[in-house]
Amino acid sequence: MADRVLTLSKYSLGTGDRFAHQAKAQLQACIQALHEGVEIVPVWNKSNREHTIIGSEPRSTRQAADAAVKALNWKLAYFCDADHITTQTVDRFMNDCDFFTLDVADFIGQAAPQEAIEAFVKRHPELSGKITLQGVDEPITISAEELRVAAQKFLAAIGKAGEVYRKIEAAKGKGNFIPEVSMDETDRAQSPADLLIILAAIADEGIPIQTIAPKFSGRFNKGVDYVGDAAQFEREMALDIAAIAHAVKQYGLPANLKLSVHSGSDKFSIYPAIHACMKRFNVGVHLKTAGTTWLEELIGLAEAGGEGLALAKEVYAEALSHREELCAPYATVIDINPARLPSASEVQGWSSEQYTSALRHIEKDPAYNDSFRQLLHVGFKVAAKMGRRYLDLLEANEGIIAKNVTVNLYERHIAPVFFGRSA
Ligand SMILES: [Zn+2]
Repeated sequence: MADRVLTLSKYSLGTGDRFAHQAKAQLQACIQALHEGVEIVPVWNKSNREHTIIGSEPRSTRQAADAAVKALNWKLAYFCDADHITTQTVDRFMNDCDFFTLDVADFIGQAAPQEAIEAFVKRHPELSGKITLQGVDEPITISAEELRVAAQKFLAAIGKAGEVYRKIEAAKGKGNFIPEVSMDETDRAQSPADLLIILAAIADEGIPIQTIAPKFSGRFNKGVDYVGDAAQFEREMALDIAAIAHAVKQYGLPANLKLSVHSGSDKFSIYPAIHACMKRFNVGVHLKTAGTTWLEELIGLAEAGGEGLALAKEVYAEALSHREELCAPYATVIDINPARLPSASEVQGWSSEQYTSALRHIEKDPAYNDSFRQLLHVGFKVAAKMGRRYLDLLEANEGIIAKNVTVNLYERHIAPVFFGRSA
């Protein structure tokens, strides 16, 4: 018998469920896709940062996922992702997760020992010069100097990924979890040439990664659209995909290795590019969405009116008065224009319709307000502090909230990315 290796299939959707109440509604979106003939595997991701802010444990994510899968009779694979973990934070995720996102962003740029850099450059003469990639017109060209600079920049970080990978492997056993390496939460984008060098280093480190999350150029703010040049993004993504295929062959990385797009929710203007690249190269993608399900909870509560609407307004008022504190941990991934934020008393007078149309991400709706949306996106701590009062209202309004959660994931994310339908 060959060893069993957990394998992530071609299409997968990372989904976040801050309060562990929407797993069923999220899974429903994957079921709808399956009815349309496309298998999209759900991965429930939650970072240490989120667990800490909310005061939850990875066990609750696992229990909610298992319960949803059982209730809806889902027969395909599903996973729980320890998102953005390091050697310091991995322990609490060990038992309940089977997908680990090894975050090395903080170590990029830390100096590796000079001997390690020299050894890497010597081991990889194939990385300097002109590298022809299949399926794209432009080759990648890396000079000897550029290779050394990249090794200086990334080797220590990949070494850290190796450390945390081996720690998980020792605890869970080889093949019993899916490793991803992420480097998206950093200030500088990685080029396709960087990606190729990084993949060579990951292979040297012996990490059988199945997904990799580079930082792409352009802004990937939380819960709002992409800011940047969509055509440039498409060109870069095509080169990244070609670089991955090259690295799989050259370095023996897992054949299903694919890109993971972090902060992937609501990036409507690049979904056509992502879909086009997947079609052109016949590859899949892992689309990692996160905190926007929490916004659908607020939308559902506001839509319900009465106590639900009152609580949604209260969350906004609180978030507004703690704006700086709430935004601080997310400073690099949000862009709020304070002048666009309505006052608490103005929002106090809003109808359900006014609240939901300001929050719901429908770009062509003139009432849509992306600053309002981003503030509430990071404002989940306010609801976490409300504790049972918030959860009771979620439970009392389950139907109307679930509908919003499913429609958001299916219509606005799955349909344009995986089916190529314009939203
Ligand atoms: Zn990320």
